[in-house]
Amino acid sequence: MTALPIRIASLPKAELHVHLEGSLQPATVAKIAARHGVQVTEEEVRQRYAYKDFVEFIETFKWVTSFLREPPDYAVIVRDFAEALHQQHVVYAEVTLSIGVMQLRGQNPQANFEAMLEVAEEFESRGLRLRWVWDAVRQFGVEAAMAVVEAAGSCHSEKIVAFGIGGDERSIPAREFRAVYGRAADLGMHRLIHAGEVGGPENIREAIDHLHAERIGHGIAAIRDPALMDLLAERQIPLEICPASNICTGALDLQMGVAAAKIEQHPLPRLFRHGIPIVLSTDDPTMFHTTLTGEYENAWKMGLNKAELERLVEMSFNHAFR
Ligand SMILES: [Zn+2]
Repeated sequence: MTALPIRIASLPKAELHVHLEGSLQPATVAKIAARHGVQVTEEEVRQRYAYKDFVEFIETFKWVTSFLREPPDYAVIVRDFAEALHQQHVVYAEVTLSIGVMQLRGQNPQANFEAMLEVAEEFESRGLRLRWVWDAVRQFGVEAAMAVVEAAGSCHSEKIVAFGIGGDERSIPAREFRAVYGRAADLGMHRLIHAGEVGGPENIREAIDHLHAERIGHGIAAIRDPALMDLLAERQIPLEICPASNICTGALDLQMGVAAAKIEQHPLPRLFRHGIPIVLSTDDPTMFHTTLTGEYENAWKMGLNKAELERLVEMSFNHAFR
């Protein structure tokens, strides 16, 4: 296997599925925790960044975000994150923020967001545009999700481009969030949802039929439903595919029905060659020990050729919301 062609690594790229909180570097976690009087070592964080399944990953996500308490904490992580994107030639990113978690902890999302925007502004002049996805947590319920939409609406920021739902897709059926998505549409927000990551292809269908989701987070379960693959290709609904994440959370094993699936077994090439738009992404880069360049390396390992990788780069721009 030869290395990823330099030309692909150096192309300007967009990233459309990445959680800010999942970009926290161990050293930064330790620094922020210390500021709040909690002793956490970098090594401890590194040990926590290993999971046996999706549930354990969610537990770690909760633990890490428990140290994010005030606007300056968020400013620090945006700076680290934007720097990492900039180094990888990323010029545009739609970044997911767990507003549902901020609200659960009694924080003021707007104050946190303003601190983030201030840092993001500095990077605009360096050629990196950041836009934001305000995200609710599925298992927190419909009312909490509606509160995220309303909070986004009252910000009146054109930098918020979409509303999404993450968390455990097996907790509450998508159709129950219909009114929430209707409200997000009324407010002019694009609509996203995590579906078909650890749940079945029916979750993807439900997200399309009931919520009119415009892009699907993960959606790898589609590989188990040929009619759904046809539908995604026909309507050109992109799947935001995050290969390293699927390995780390066990989602790939689950969808492929095998133990310890390898990256070469990922369904990305088959979905892509079926004509479904794919936006290659990292999901939670530091928590899954990956980078966007690393994901292009993964796609290369899966057997995509140079022209196909270039097409993937193009697609990440074509399916951006701004
Ligand atoms: Zn995600």
